[in-house]
Amino acid sequence: MDKIYKRRGGNSVIDDPYLQDINYGDPNICPECGAIYHNKRWKFDEDLKREIQLNGNYGEKKCPACRKKEDDYPMGLVFVSGNFIQEHREDIINTVKGEEKRAIQKNPLERIISVEKENENQYIIKTTTDTLAHRIGNILHKSYNGEVEYKFSEDHLRVFWSREV
Ligand SMILES: [Zn+2]
Repeated sequence: MDKIYKRRGGNSVIDDPYLQDINYGDPNICPECGAIYHNKRWKFDEDLKREIQLNGNYGEKKCPACRKKEDDYPMGLVFVSGNFIQEHREDIINTVKGEEKRAIQKNPLERIISVEKENENQYIIKTTTDTLAHRIGNILHKSYNGEVEYKFSEDHLRVFWSREV
């Protein structure tokens, strides 16, 4: 694990404004993605969702992840670059998406906002959380070696992963 990156109790080291600006009632169902806020945490649970909907008494505010997507407010940016990606683009994207899937199982608010192609040798992946960007940096480094670097600022994390040959 990177030296400058120290988790506090498994949480992000960067304050997330989207977790503090709205008071979500309990329960709340995000109308966009269906994530449920219940007992102070977010989760995907189809059975619980049906139960809540049958009960009829619930909030319908958008979850922090959907709001970040809407606002294009990434808390993580992963810069993927180098000649290596030309031949392995699909494989790399699948690896990144697989990591998102694993992250979502633990925390439904960890999502990829977009994967943008800058040019043949560079892609930028935007994520809703710094922790997901960090995970993506880790998995790319673990899967394909190359070089990885993590740069924190006050409100987001930038991850640079590159491999030339
Ligand atoms: Zn949502």
